[in-house]
Amino acid sequence: MTYTIKDNCVVCDICQPECPTGAIKPEVEGEGFWIDPTLCDGCPDVKVPRCVAACSVGSLTPLKPKKGRRKSTLLPLAIPAIFLNGKTTPFASSMVVWEACNLLAQRQLWQSDADGQLRYHRAVHRGRGEMRFRLATDPENASPALLAAETVEEAIAQFDIRAACVHLIFAAYAVTVDCPWEEPFVLNDQHIEGYLGLDKRKDLTKLEKLTLIKDLVHQSCQLLVSIDWPRQGNVRAFSLDEQPVWQLLDTEYYFEEDAQGYRHLIGLGFTIRAGLWTKHFLNKQDYRRQTAFYQYGNLPQSLLTEVMSNWQQHEGSVRLLLWLLFKLRLGGDQRLTVRTLMRIAYGEKRLMEATTVRGAHKRLLKTFESDLETIYAYGLKPLFDAETYALDIQPLWARVADIPEDVDNALEFWINDANQAHSLTDAAPRDKWQRLINARILGFELSEEWQQAIQRRAPKRRRKQAQVGKIEQLSGSAIKAARQRQNFTQRALAERLGKSQSWVRDVENGRFSLVPEDQARLRQTLDI
Ligand code: SF4
Ligand code: SF4
Repeated sequence: MTYTIKDNCVVCDICQPECPTGAIKPEVEGEGFWIDPTLCDGCPDVKVPRCVAACSVGSLTPLKPKKGRRKSTLLPLAIPAIFLNGKTTPFASSMVVWEACNLLAQRQLWQSDADGQLRYHRAVHRGRGEMRFRLATDPENASPALLAAETVEEAIAQFDIRAACVHLIFAAYAVTVDCPWEEPFVLNDQHIEGYLGLDKRKDLTKLEKLTLIKDLVHQSCQLLVSIDWPRQGNVRAFSLDEQPVWQLLDTEYYFEEDAQGYRHLIGLGFTIRAGLWTKHFLNKQDYRRQTAFYQYGNLPQSLLTEVMSNWQQHEGSVRLLLWLLFKLRLGGDQRLTVRTLMRIAYGEKRLMEATTVRGAHKRLLKTFESDLETIYAYGLKPLFDAETYALDIQPLWARVADIPEDVDNALEFWINDANQAHSLTDAAPRDKWQRLINARILGFELSEEWQQAIQRRAPKRRRKQAQVGKIEQLSGSAIKAARQRQNFTQRALAERLGKSQSWVRDVENGRFSLVPEDQARLRQTLDI
């Protein structure tokens, strides 16, 4: 239950210090107080709320929820939308954004420094430079101080993985302005609601959504960063003092009054400015002069909605997806060990526990396979290394997914399967965990949105060469005919290419066009 202050308040200031959540705030213009409904929890631990007990004129009263739709004309309108094509949007993707995203998503990366303060330290360029992150107190405060050592742990424990989505939305807004370190951007709860898919949540009240959005914005704006960056080519070495990654300059509260004169919160507006790090990593002008970087990528909107819908049931898969968004930008065929993926998804502590506590590895293995399946269902198909991540230790869902839909091909699949040393229906080997922990994933087959997300421009010279040597696209039927000529099954060809059987099947059925590298490998393997 939220409380509100009526007109008969005599502004005696007795109630404000009594409020444990800081919900009673002074009016910005004029005298008096107002109650921030996103902070007031109605004092559930006491019979009579503290402010009600303190007020001698009975000015405090419960705020009954207002019925009906609320769409205020007060909300700022002229805010540029992102995701203009409905799928992806450019976003700042420098290492500062990546590390901040990891911190919000992974929680366990913080370490104590010499003063007993928790901080996250990241060496860059083989230790020639470093980035340090710490946490600020209330980001609504114009000059946020460092969070006290004893409360940092509590704040980190309360980190909500969904704050990483808000952080990515800010990173997308940062590329919409020319000088993000100078020009703030404004966005309101309706934008964030839409990008995160919260507008479809009928189980949450408007106030619950506003409270959640404000919490997520605050968590993203709590991160402070300081940087020592080494010289790279023409870009000189630089150092930045500790400052917010995102500075929350202002929070606007939009109220609507009902017939009884009670004010209901109907919207929030946030004015945010990117930190000075953008001057070095998102600087178009200096990038042209080759004295700064302009690092951006494409953010798939589906990633945000995936995080929002799976953050509770599949936290590990959500952490992996957020990490892969940046990692795969370094190249779609990044080889990753299962140990690395588990460290990202569950943290070093849980991984250690799985190798030392009896039976713990079975639970972790089950969770990992289920999280990997969630990633696959979302549209990123893991490509298992045939040597280290052999069929007998692959998850059952992956092996079943390879069964062709076509009846003849399915028959061929089962005949092959029966002749394999390990059949699909065999139980997992006893040493599965030991082998799995060192197994490798060769990369991921990507959905269309993710292909756009990680596509990097080839250098001009190479693009020119590619145009000169442009080769004719191989058709699915030509590939199938060549495979049969070579007496390869789809599975045998997939193993030679380091791909999955369903990839070969989809290529033969013409479901997607091949990238030049895959085409070249197919020509070489099938002697086309
Ligand atoms: S009800 Fe409790 S939390 Fe709400 S304003 Fe009063 S003292 Fe603060
Ligand atoms: S105690 Fe009552 S009268 Fe005094 S400031 Fe609070 S609401 Fe107003």
